[in-house]
Amino acid sequence: MNKVRTPMPEQKADERNKNFKEVALGYSIEDALNEAHRCLECKNPKCVTGCPVDVSIPKFIAAIKENDIESAYKIIKGTNSLPSVCGRVCPQEQQCESKCVLGIKGEPVAIGRLERFVADYARENGYSDDHDVKSIGKKAAIVGAGPAGLTCAGDLAKEGVDVTVFEAFHKPGGVLMYGIPEFRLPKDLVETEIESLKSMGVKFEYDTVIGKTISVDELRREYDTIFLGSGAGLPRFMNIEGEELIGVCSANEYLTRINLMKAYEEDSKTPILKGENIVVVGGGNVAMDSARCAKRMGADVHIVYRRSMEELPARKEEVHHAIEEGIHFDLLCNPTRILGNDGAVTGIECVKMELGEPDSSGRRRPVVIENSQFELPADIVIMAIGTSPNPLIRKTTPDLKAEKWGGIYADDNMATNIEGIYAGGDAVTGAATVILAMGAGKTAAKAMLKYMTK
Ligand code: FAD
Ligand code: SF4
Repeated sequence: MNKVRTPMPEQKADERNKNFKEVALGYSIEDALNEAHRCLECKNPKCVTGCPVDVSIPKFIAAIKENDIESAYKIIKGTNSLPSVCGRVCPQEQQCESKCVLGIKGEPVAIGRLERFVADYARENGYSDDHDVKSIGKKAAIVGAGPAGLTCAGDLAKEGVDVTVFEAFHKPGGVLMYGIPEFRLPKDLVETEIESLKSMGVKFEYDTVIGKTISVDELRREYDTIFLGSGAGLPRFMNIEGEELIGVCSANEYLTRINLMKAYEEDSKTPILKGENIVVVGGGNVAMDSARCAKRMGADVHIVYRRSMEELPARKEEVHHAIEEGIHFDLLCNPTRILGNDGAVTGIECVKMELGEPDSSGRRRPVVIENSQFELPADIVIMAIGTSPNPLIRKTTPDLKAEKWGGIYADDNMATNIEGIYAGGDAVTGAATVILAMGAGKTAAKAMLKYMTK
C-alpha cells in the first residue's frame, strides 16, 4: 500500500501566476485508478462522517476501481448536486479526508481529487442525470443562486416541486461565480451544473433583488414555501485612518470586478484598480484569492495577517499555491493606518504582533508588540477581513427574526420564525463554506417538502 497519495499535475508556478487558467489540471484515468486502489473500502467508513452532504465515499471509489465512472458519478450525484465544484473548493483536509483511516500512518485517500475526476469525466463523456419526475403541484421560491439556494432548488425539483430561483446578479452561482477565481474554479463548470438544474425544470429570474424588486411578502402570496439563501456579501472594514483613500477597496468588490465582470480579459471594459504594490489584509480563502488575482494582474503582493502561518484560516492548498506563486506573507502584523498623499494610498502602517493566551475561538490571541510600527509601500489596499450577511431581506421583512450580528434565525430544520419560510447558508451562519451552505440547502429542502405535503 502506497502511503503517499497520487499527485495531481498542475501548471508551473512561474507560468500560472501570469494567467487565469486553472492551476490544478486534474487526474487522468490512470491517476484516478491508482488513487482509488489505495481506499480500503472500510465497513464503517469514517470519511463519510466528515462529509456534510453524506456522499457514499467508499461506494463511489469502489465504482472507480471497477472503471465504472458512470456509476461513480450517479452515486455522488445522489447526494451532491455540485460535485465538480466540491471536488475543487471543499476544505477536504478538514472534512472527509481528515477522518480517513489512511491518514493515521500516511496520507489520506485524495477523496476530493477523485470526486473532481468523476465529475469532469462525466461532463466530458456527456453523462446526464435521470429526471423522470412527476409534478406534485407545489411551488417554491428560492432567494439567491449560491450553493445553498442551488442545492435546495435541485433537491426540491427532484421531488416534483415547481421551483423558481430569484437572483440579484445577472448570473447564477453566488460566490462560485463572483468570488472564487477562474484559476480555482472555471466558470464553465459552474454553468454546466446550473444547466443540469435547468434541465430538471428549475427556472431562474436574474437581476431581481428580493426586498427591492419584489418583497418577501409578495413571494409568500405566490409560492407555497420560500428559501432564503442570500449569502454574506456585506464587506467589513477595519475602521482605521485612511480607509477612505482612493486605492482602498473590499475584497468582494475587487473579486467581483475580476471574476464576474472579467476585468482580467484584455478587451474587458470593466474598470479595475491596478497597482505595482498591493497589500491584502486578511488570512482566509478570500485573502488568498485576492492576492493571487492581484499577482496575475501584474502587482507585487503582500498579505498582512495578524496571527501566524499555523492559524491562517485559508485552505492549506491555497496557501501553498500562493507561496509558490510569489506572494509575500507578512505574518504577525496588523495594520494601524493607511497612508496617503493627494487623496490616494501610498502605503500602510502596521504593528508587529505576538501570540498570547488562547481566546474564545481556541486560537492564541494576537497581542501588539509596543513600538514595533513599520511601513509597507502600497498603491492599493484590499480588505479581506470578513463579510456579514446581506441585510436587505432582514430590513424589508420586519417580522423575520434575525440574530444580533445580522444572521437570519433558523432552527435545525432551517425553518425561520415565519411559517413556510426557510433559510440557510452564509445568510444564517455568516461566511462559511460551500459544502456547509449545500448541507443547509438540503436540510431545508427536506423540511420544505414535508411542510408542503403535510
Ligand atoms: P452565496 O454564495 O453568497 O450566494 C448568495 C446569492 O444570493 C448571491 O448570488 C447573491 O447575489 C444573492 N442575493 C443576495 N441577496 C439577494 C436578494 N436580496 N435577492 C436576490 N438575490 C440575492 N468556501 C469553500 O468551501 N471553499 C473555498 O475555497 C472558498 N473560497 C471562497 C473564496 C471567496 C473569495 C469567497 C467570498 C468565499 C469562499 N468560500 C469558500 C465560501 C463559500 O463560497 C460560501 O460559504 C458559499 O458560497 C455560501 O453559499 P450561499 O449560497 O450561502 O451564499
Ligand atoms: Fe476509503 Fe479512507 Fe473512507 Fe476508509 S476512510 S473508506 S480508506 S476513503
